Amino acid sequence: MKTLNDFKKEINKCSKCGLCQSVCPVYKITGNDCAVSRGKFVMLDGVLKGDLKLNKNIEKYLDLCLKCGKCKDFCPSNIDVCEIFNIAKYECSKNTFHWKLLKFLESKFVFGNVIHFFRKFPFTHRYKIISQTSNPKLKVIYFKGCVNEVYPKVENALKKIFSNLDIEIIEKDFDCCGLPFLSSGNMERYEQTAKHNIELLNGGYDYVLTDCASCAYTLSNYKKHFKNINLPPIINAGELLAKEDMKFVFEKPVKITFHKPCHLENDDFIKLIFQKCENIEYIEMEGYDDCCGFAGEFAIKNPKISKEISKKKITNALKTEADYIITTCPACVMGLTQGLITNKIFTKKSPKILNLMEFLANAKIIKS
Ligand code: SF4
Ligand code: SF4
Repeated sequence: MKTLNDFKKEINKCSKCGLCQSVCPVYKITGNDCAVSRGKFVMLDGVLKGDLKLNKNIEKYLDLCLKCGKCKDFCPSNIDVCEIFNIAKYECSKNTFHWKLLKFLESKFVFGNVIHFFRKFPFTHRYKIISQTSNPKLKVIYFKGCVNEVYPKVENALKKIFSNLDIEIIEKDFDCCGLPFLSSGNMERYEQTAKHNIELLNGGYDYVLTDCASCAYTLSNYKKHFKNINLPPIINAGELLAKEDMKFVFEKPVKITFHKPCHLENDDFIKLIFQKCENIEYIEMEGYDDCCGFAGEFAIKNPKISKEISKKKITNALKTEADYIITTCPACVMGLTQGLITNKIFTKKSPKILNLMEFLANAKIIKS
């Protein structure tokens, strides 16, 4: 495992240009330089020089980050900020009481068994794909993610759609992708889950299929932490459907808009998928790729700021007067819902917030 010291050179690449301020959702709300990467790098540089101690105060500022990666994409020095913050967080909190408690709650024994329990005894029906051809054109392994393990609403929608296609879907007992552990600085647990998943992902599949942008992002980052691994390409279910010759016909005309999750690296397929839908009107919202403000642990530790960011997001979505807000990440569904609740407009008439798979499963599917 790397240490903060290994990132000394990377941290020193920060020229303090301040460009990250213009894209950081937390900075835009707080105006606090310690909320954005530049300020954090000043602190971490002080730690590496021995002028500052990695203490609770610095941990508080490390927690003041959505890990959205917007600053990394914009940074002229292309510094991998999230990687540095995760390691710094680990070094800050390791061996504290809070850390030991968190380690216990995130352990395979607690977290892993809760997921295993839901997997074994689903409380809602789990759709099974029945019609598989003997010689499918593609063999994909489905990484469904923890939210589907607990409540398989999106999984069922995905399977319903894919049952129309000549694609074999393989399922295995994966662990969590590891993103929550990375964010909390629980690097040991992250490595444990990643190693387990890497083993199961090997098997000559054409793709690793996901319906969650955050799972896809984390899986594709395994190669950063483990050398010589060779995983199949990771693909969003929507991207795979965009390659298929099929149509989604909606019974009544509907207006839709789309929220791009920060972890969805490429969203080119979204417009292609919407072109395959009949009876829809797509309206792009202002700031469609702005963060929803949720980011799991961030929303728990910084509830006021999280709600402010979600409120801004939902205000833009509502301006489109869409019936549906579509996204591809369960955490974003929560962030957008938080925005509706904060704006006190969570009524029956509010737009429905759906994962792309759930939205498409409502349509009549026509395969050519
Ligand atoms: S954009 Fe990059 S180089 Fe500029 S201040 Fe932010 S982190 Fe430093
Ligand atoms: S990752 Fe996002 S929230 Fe964190 S400092 Fe960068 S832009 Fe701000």
